[in-house]
Amino acid sequence: MSDDCIFCKIASGEMESELVYEDDSVVAFSDINPVAPHHILIIPRKHIASINEIGEGEAKLIGRLFLAAGKLAKDLGVDQPGYRCVINTNKDAGQAVFHIHLHLLAGRKLGWPPG
Ligand code: 5GP
Ligand code: ZN
Repeated sequence: MSDDCIFCKIASGEMESELVYEDDSVVAFSDINPVAPHHILIIPRKHIASINEIGEGEAKLIGRLFLAAGKLAKDLGVDQPGYRCVINTNKDAGQAVFHIHLHLLAGRKLGWPPG
């Protein structure tokens, strides 16, 4: 837990959010500023700032973010039409919150390449 991290506060329940999934190691909630009809953020409960800080011992934990994404996509009924999973890292990618999070975007045609 990092004291000044909003996503740690969401994971611990200290800060309110619209939770859509949780287990012992992962939490998922609706993005406060959605850019698609379905916009969910999937995070590890453990504070990891970005992809750059993932340790060898955390590979399984990061895999669980993708397992949760697949499950949520199926539950939302977007697994077949399709969806996008994105992790922004640092300035050039526009990372704003430094607690690693997987964006799950779905519900509309998503352009490529992203801006
Ligand atoms: P990033 O640019 O770091 O990849 O994305 C951060 C995301 O977190 C943004 O899409 C932003 O809307 C979302 N966000 C920022 N603060 C909050 C918050 O307090 N609650 C929720 N639910 N989402 C947030
Ligand atoms: Zn955190």
